This record gives sequence, structure tokens and C-alpha cells, in this order.
Amino acid sequence: MNTQNTWYDYIQNDKPIPEWPYPIRYGKENEVDADVLILGGGVAGCHAAINAAKRGAKVVVVDKGPIRRSGCSGAGLDHWHAACTNPCSTLTPEEMVEGHEEYGGFQYGELGNGMTCYIAGKESYDALLDVEKMGVQVRDINDEFVGCDFRDDKTKLMFAYDYESRYTIRVAAGNIKPLMANELKRLGIKMYDFVMVTSLLTEGGKPGTRVIGATGVNVRTGEFYIFRSKATVLAMAAPGGLWVFSTELGPSGVPGLTGDGTAMAWNAGAEFHTLEGSGPSSGGLKYLPHSAANPHNTWNAVNIVDANGKEVPWVDRDGRILKTPAARHLRSPGQKFFNQMMAPYELREPRTTPDLPELIRNGEFVLPLYADLPGMSPKERRMIYGFMVGNEGCTRYGIYDVFTKAGFDPDYDMPQAPVMPPDLYNYGVWWGGIPVRQWREMGGGGGLVFDWDMKTSLDGLYVAGLQGAGVNHAGSAVTGRYAGRKAAAYARTAKEPVIERKQVDAEKSRVYAPVQRKDGMGWKELKAGLCRIMQDYCGEYKTDRTLELGLQYLHSIADSEAATVCAHNPHDLARALECQTHITVSEMIFHASIARKASCSLLGFRRLDYPQLDPPEWHKFITLKLVNGRVKIGERPMRWWLKLPYAGTYEENYKKHCGLEV
Ligand SMILES: Cc1cc2nc3c(=O)[nH]c(=O)nc-3n(C[C@H](O)[C@H](O)[C@H](O)COP(=O)(O)OP(=O)(O)OC[C@H]3O[C@@H](n4cnc5c(N)ncnc54)[C@H](O)[C@@H]3O)c2cc1C
Repeated sequence: MNTQNTWYDYIQNDKPIPEWPYPIRYGKENEVDADVLILGGGVAGCHAAINAAKRGAKVVVVDKGPIRRSGCSGAGLDHWHAACTNPCSTLTPEEMVEGHEEYGGFQYGELGNGMTCYIAGKESYDALLDVEKMGVQVRDINDEFVGCDFRDDKTKLMFAYDYESRYTIRVAAGNIKPLMANELKRLGIKMYDFVMVTSLLTEGGKPGTRVIGATGVNVRTGEFYIFRSKATVLAMAAPGGLWVFSTELGPSGVPGLTGDGTAMAWNAGAEFHTLEGSGPSSGGLKYLPHSAANPHNTWNAVNIVDANGKEVPWVDRDGRILKTPAARHLRSPGQKFFNQMMAPYELREPRTTPDLPELIRNGEFVLPLYADLPGMSPKERRMIYGFMVGNEGCTRYGIYDVFTKAGFDPDYDMPQAPVMPPDLYNYGVWWGGIPVRQWREMGGGGGLVFDWDMKTSLDGLYVAGLQGAGVNHAGSAVTGRYAGRKAAAYARTAKEPVIERKQVDAEKSRVYAPVQRKDGMGWKELKAGLCRIMQDYCGEYKTDRTLELGLQYLHSIADSEAATVCAHNPHDLARALECQTHITVSEMIFHASIARKASCSLLGFRRLDYPQLDPPEWHKFITLKLVNGRVKIGERPMRWWLKLPYAGTYEENYKKHCGLEV
């Protein structure tokens, strides 16, 4: 074991503990002005910035990590969804949105967001062409896969999953974030790395008014930032890690996905919807999603064999056995298109046989299972192991690099596949672990209410990406493009923002409170305790009584334990502030859960005291916002975005609002 510069090394060798490597300047103020302020420099934030800058706006992007690698796609990606307008696709944006609304799938069905689903169908391919110009490889430029059934020889595009509908494109995008960051630099966009945004600033310092900027704290130096803006785009992704926290065990969510944007928009008085939805996850013991030979994503259609080399059968949605890897990419008879994972019957993809847990229990298949890469044709093998595994963020470093350095040879070696819990197996999830719940951060749907301009209920505040039902990389890129255009247009005629000093001072006191305490609770203990509240009181089955109790505990923790949290450096400070976010977002989820007095299959929402599943009178969106410090519950009808003042079709609304000549 290499013990150099570990705690072991410091203690054994009596070395002084290293000091914090940056100068600490708590409280020092930096003021920054922008026409368009982008909060979060991930996928959506970068696309928003580029599109606002191309329309002449002075753009500033702020991220709590390094923009070159921050966010969910920081380590790369391997497939691009919803490219309905690519020359080979047989699926139209209208068919895609209809499929999702009718049958569900990734987007909560009708309780998902039809607007972003449609916008994704219209602009996903354009966004892909944008990143191609930045240098991302989106075609088989080296003719490595000539003759393969997933390749179109004319365009050299290569498709994933549904080879007949051809709307998902394989991309070698391991370096997509650095390439996007280069583009931001080229356009002269000012980037603030390692600055954690802590609150939104509003006109007159009052909640519910126009958003005119934000505050932030540098997670290295502790300096304070005051951003003043004519328009602001919220792109800090969605809350994650609310039910599970574990740094020692497997991933408990993407580190940046803490829900800060959600909490600050709530405190600023923005309206939210559908926060009560949560889904099953395989918790702290899971493998990183798609990392370990999960045959339903990056390793899609890989042969799976048991310990004796017996092949696990693949079936279509009707249980027909699919003999070859090629057949695992074809639609079932009568199927319009299929979705990648977790889809309901109508959009269900070919999958490993659903009775596999039973077959393992009765001894027909013997654990462990393996991905039989050597059993595939050389090009199929190279596509999965080199192209997809070598570019996807979940696998690029932890699997591809590590395995390759260790001498793994896909022509001969078989990686072990995780054993999935039976409850999750039905969802096609191969992550291993023990089921717990998680907010559907990757599932789209709930979050900020926004309109066809991607404007929230607050003037001057736009939303994009997972924060605005962006769902996946393409959806986030597309909503970023759209919100960037709209924010730039708004900024052109917006009044000069005037910051209310009292609001800044109040936020400074809140932000620096943890560094002023000499001792107190650490952020990790607090975070673990907060997760317990979600597991125990907002778990699989809910009642008014447990939910109310959970809310009381949250309030009690906020007033007592959380008020003692102590931070020893700017890193600790950021984590302590994230715990406050955790409390706020959990409270929002509790309020939304209490408000829905019915069980709902689309939201994975079970009430023991209201067991009736999907009663028609509850077929609606629950909304909530903070008004004068009190939670105001409301509702919106299904497809409210096609009702007054937006009466019309998807196409009509898109044409009217998208800000492009179409
Ligand atoms: C490992 C992995 C692999 C994936 N692979 C694919 C794929 O192959 N195809 C696909 O379609 N989708 C994929 N996804 C999903 C896709 O990456 C996300 O949908 C997409 O990145 C969401 O974009 P976003 O801009 O909303 O969020 P992100 O890209 O996560 O950006 C959010 C940004 O906000 C910043 N931030 C958060 N809080 C603050 C704060 N308080 N202050 C300042 N900044 C803040 C974060 O640092 C981050 O940079 C993958 C996701 C993961 C985790």
C-alpha cells in the first residue's frame, strides 16, 4: 500500500498536518455585473451561456466546481437522446411527446413535462451539431464500424438502442465538457469556477419579486460574491442524495447534485410542482449506474452468462426470445418505438428475461453473472467496450481506464455483472445493492413551474437542464439553448437591477455562521441524520401522521443541531450550506407529499391512509410556493402548458415562443 501523504503517513511519521492550501478571506466582497447570469456551468448552463452570448449579451457563468469538468456529464457521455430531426430518424417530436404522455417512460407520463419533451425532440439534433462544431466526435469518422447495423453509411451516424427508429445517437463524448468550456472561453464568457451560489437576490430584497442577481461563496478562499444581472438562468441540476448519504460505500448521488438551486428559488418565492414523486434506487451499496456491465445502458445488449457459461435469455416486451444481439435492438411487432430503460409495456425495450431473479433462486442460473464480451462479434465488442464504456462518464475512469491499465482484454476476459435486487430488476436496473428511495433527479418531471419561454414564476428568472425537467444530457443541452436565447432577449429591455444591501447582509450572516463557531456538529453527521428523516418518514409507504412527524423533526433539527454546525475551512463551509439546502428541499417534499391525498402510480407515490391508486380527481399537478413565510398549496390541470394562455398544439406554441425563425 502506498502510504505517502495519507493520514497514516502523517501520524506514523509525526509530520505536521498540511495547511489549507488557499488564502482564506472570509467576508471579502467581489462584485460582478452581467446581462445574463448563468447559475451552474454544467450541460444546460454551458449551452445557455453560449446561446445568450451569441445574441450579444454579456454573460457570466458561476459553478461550484471547475466548469471544464463539473456536473453530471463532467466525465463524459456515450449516447445522445431525442435526436428526432436527424436525417435517419423515423420518429417525430410529436410522436415522441405523444408516446411519453400516453405511456410514460422517462418523463412520468402525463405528469412529466410535455413542453421540454417536445422542445428536446425539435432541437436535440441541432444541439448535437453545435457540439460537433466544438470538436465532439458524433460520427464514425474513422470508418471503424462500416457494415454494422447501427451505422448509417451516408451520414456516418451511429445509433443506440432502437436501431429502427434511430433517434438515439452514439457519441464519443468523453471530452465534451472541456470542449464546451473552450467554446465559452472563445466567446469571451466570464467563468467563475469554485464559487458556490448561495441565494438569489430580488428587487427590493423581497421574495416573489424580480430576480436581479445572486450571492456566492468561493469554496477555496471563502470570499463572498455579489452578482448583479438583468436576467438569470438557474441551471444547478436537481436535488440528489436526500435519502442516502455514504462516502464510504457506493455513490450516494452525483456530488454536485445537492438541490441548491431548488432551495434558493423556493426561498425567493418561486412556484414548484410535483415534488412528491420519488423512485426506487439501490442505495449506498449499488455500483455506479451503468458501470459494472449493466446490459441495459452503456453495455446495452451485451451477452450475460452465469458462472457455468450458460447464456441469460433476452426477450422482447411480449416474452419472445431474442437470439442474437442484433435482435435486441429491434422493435416488437406493432411497436412504434422503444425507450431505453424502465419503460412501460408500450415503449418497453428488449431486456434480459424478467424472471431471472426466480431462475437464480431455483438454481437454473448460478451466480456470479458475467458480461460475455468475448462471445460477441469483434465490432459489437469494440462498440460496447471501447466506444461506449470508453466515453460514458460512469465507466470511462472507474472501469475503462482501471481495467485497461490492469491488463483487461475484452477479447478474452469477462467483467462480472452486478446482482440486482429483485424489486429493482423489473425496472431493468442492474446496479446491485439494497433498494431505498430517491427523488427522481434523473427522471424529470417535478421542479420549478415554468412557461413556454422557460421563464419561472419569478420575473427575470429562467430555468434549464435537470432543474427544468431536462431529463438527460440532450434534454439539458436543448433547454439550455432555449433558456439562453430567451434570457438574452429579456435582458435587452430589462430595467437596471438595484441590489438591496440589507438582503446581501442577511445572506452574509447566514453563510458565514458555521465558520464563526469554534466547535459544534460536523456536516457529515448532520447530513446522515437528515437522510434518516427521509428514509423513516418519507419512505416507501406514507401517511399524514408519518409525514407530519418528519416535518416536525426537520424543523427541530433546523432549530437545534443544524444551528450548531461548525466549518473549519471553505470546503466544510460549502458542505454545511448544502445541509441547509437538504433541510429546505426535504421540507418542500414533505409539504408536497402531505398535499397529495391519494396514491399515484406515475409518481411511485404510496399513501397507506389514501390507498386508492390514481383516483381521477387527483389526476393533476400539485403546486406549492412560499408566500409570506407560509407554504401555499395549489394545483394545475394536466397539460396546463397547452391550455390558456397557451391554448394550441405543441407545434403552435413552440413556433410562437422558441425565439427562432421556424
Ligand atoms: C455519470 C453520468 C453519466 C451520464 N451519461 C449520460 C449519457 O450518456 N447520456 C445522457 O443523455 N445523459 C447522461 N447522463 C445524464 C446527464 O449527464 C444529465 O442529464 C445532464 O448533465 C444534466 O445537465 P444539467 O446542466 O442540468 O446538470 P449538470 O450538468 O449536473 O450541471 C449542474 C451544474 O450546477 C453546478 N452547481 C450545483 N449547485 C451549485 C451551486 N450551489 N453553485 C454553483 N454551481 C452549482 C454543478 O457543479 C454542475 O456543474 C449521465 C449522468 C451521469 C451522472
